[in-house]
Amino acid sequence: MAFVTPSTTADKYDVIVVGSGAAGGQAAYTLTMDGAKVLMIEAGRNYDPRSETPMFNTPDQAPLRGGSTPEKPFGYFDATVGGGWTVPGEPYTNASKEPGREFKWWRARMLGGRTNHWARHALRNGPYDFKPRSRDGLGFDWPISYDDVAPYYDRVEMLIGVYGTNEGLENTPNSPEGVLLPPPKARIGELLGRQRGRGIGIPVIPAHRAVLSKALDYKTLPAKLHPGNAKAQRVLAEDMRNRAACFWATACGRGCAIRANYQSTTVHIPPALATGNLDILAGAMAREVTVDPSGKATGITYVDKKTGKEHHVSARVVVLAASACETVRILLNSKSAAFPDGLANSSGLVGKYIMDTVGASWGGHIPLLEDLPPHNEDGAGGDHVYTPWWLYKEQLAGKLGFARGYHVEFTTGKQMPQGYSTFAEDNGGKTLYGPRLKEDARRNYGSYVAFTGRGEMIPNKDSFCEIDPKVVDKWGIPVLRFNWKWSEHETRQVAHMQRTFADWISAMGCTSTNAPNKDGSRAIEPGGSIIHEVGGTIMGSDAKSSVTNSWSQSWDVKNIFVADGGVFASNADKNPTLTIMALAWRTADRILDEMRRGNI
Ligand SMILES: Cc1cc2nc3c(=O)[nH]c(=O)nc-3n(C[C@H](O)[C@H](O)[C@H](O)COP(=O)(O)OP(=O)(O)OC[C@H]3O[C@@H](n4cnc5c(N)ncnc54)[C@H](O)[C@@H]3O)c2cc1C
Ligand code: SF4
Repeated sequence: MAFVTPSTTADKYDVIVVGSGAAGGQAAYTLTMDGAKVLMIEAGRNYDPRSETPMFNTPDQAPLRGGSTPEKPFGYFDATVGGGWTVPGEPYTNASKEPGREFKWWRARMLGGRTNHWARHALRNGPYDFKPRSRDGLGFDWPISYDDVAPYYDRVEMLIGVYGTNEGLENTPNSPEGVLLPPPKARIGELLGRQRGRGIGIPVIPAHRAVLSKALDYKTLPAKLHPGNAKAQRVLAEDMRNRAACFWATACGRGCAIRANYQSTTVHIPPALATGNLDILAGAMAREVTVDPSGKATGITYVDKKTGKEHHVSARVVVLAASACETVRILLNSKSAAFPDGLANSSGLVGKYIMDTVGASWGGHIPLLEDLPPHNEDGAGGDHVYTPWWLYKEQLAGKLGFARGYHVEFTTGKQMPQGYSTFAEDNGGKTLYGPRLKEDARRNYGSYVAFTGRGEMIPNKDSFCEIDPKVVDKWGIPVLRFNWKWSEHETRQVAHMQRTFADWISAMGCTSTNAPNKDGSRAIEPGGSIIHEVGGTIMGSDAKSSVTNSWSQSWDVKNIFVADGGVFASNADKNPTLTIMALAWRTADRILDEMRRGNI
């Protein structure tokens, strides 16, 4: 089994997985390692990071010195191909154009999806994050707790490789001893941030990111991950040997040819293919899940993007892992006489309660960091430290005026300059040229620090997606229409972020007279722009108030499972992808059990 075409797919698979990102990759990995025959359907093209990553190209080798363009919003060398804020021929719409009501939707159309680019912040949700309603009466509790997911966090961290430390902080879980990889040293700006943060009561600890700070232990990890499964252990050991440790030299957003960071294409798909149990059908746009007269899913109808023709493949089980909103779209487009409002939608909640992460940032020039001797601060292509939410007690006591927390990510250092890098201090509006510009660049390079707040949004009735009744994509498939609204919980949280950043940056000695906008409703980034969208097929404890049960299994159609962030009943400040993978592994285990028992 390997890469297939519409004419070479098998007659029937055990499982079809739609999507190949964090969710689809993890589901396919777990299923195939345990012997299930899986077809992965991916709308984008095949992509191999080993041969396609421009790891060593310098900005002068790219148009506009690698700067951002509409086709490549994150710069010329960014790993994302065939996607971005707009995808040619695949529009989406917004119900309102009012400020603050629009949702931006980032999609990656390639094998591995957004994991080829993602920033690799890999944080566990904590115990509070699964039971938020029980703490403050808002949003929803999940039907599962941290203890249900913890063993899967352990497994995912061991498989993908995550650096970080155990600090024992509130609602910031430790991993078992030996699971995390050692973190890289903090950079100078990060050390200064930590020292000055301490002075104003803000903790700074090593970041958790999915980058191999040392090679994985291929001798012991496979047995821990696949006990009693000799074949899986052998396949994984062989694969882990082929993942090198990071050599701290390049921009991770381009992808990693040496497989030192987590991408579905560097971690999940190679061993899944090596089992011989995975077929991958790239360039295939899933249109709908088909059902038989008894209401059981029978497979997927898809459009072959090369020919524009429609085809059908069959399976015992369908796993939707197309990313939270695409999964909604597939379900709502799967209409039949038995399911006139779309599949798995007896609750009417498919598409409801979509969430993003709350975002705002601020930074400035720090004179103390000027004129540092030249040194290499490239590091692990992203931050080495972060600040977990630290005001749980004050918040619970009602002292903050908003309900949920945020963490802070750092940007500092002397990474490879881009065409648009900031070198010069504020020169009173004057443009610098010649020797003065060079002097300024040398003095100031590496003396900027930025804080990025990433906060929890509470699900609300005004944030949902639905099928646009008028617009279809280039294959005639109806597209999504978004509805969006932040609540005061989020805008007040952003106002708090901005006050914190202003205090912190001045504690670091920033002399700039610029101040962040402290009006949260203006400073908050638009919905969707943090690219952490989740919800839309939320899990719950009964069929009336949720789309899936605690195993991410549709209440209505027992052989449909959702593996992506659609099932999130809340969106903690922690970046979602580690939790997506932990839940996808748990769901895949459940599918294997249910298939063995003959229940599906
Ligand atoms: C710039 C950036 C930075 C990020 N940083 C972080 C971070 O630091 N930490 C973090 O936790 N998260 C981060 N994320 C988010 C992270 O990438 C996503 O949470 C994660 O990739 C979601 O996995 P997924 O499998 O659900 O979706 P995706 O990775 O988007 O994969 C979905 C796949 O399904 C395919 N697909 C969609 N529709 C269909 C269809 N109809 N038929 C067939 N295939 C289909 C897509 O082409 C895609 O390949 C970041 C994202 C971006 C873009
Ligand atoms: S910094 Fe390390 S993990 Fe990131 S792309 Fe370079 S080698 Fe790979």
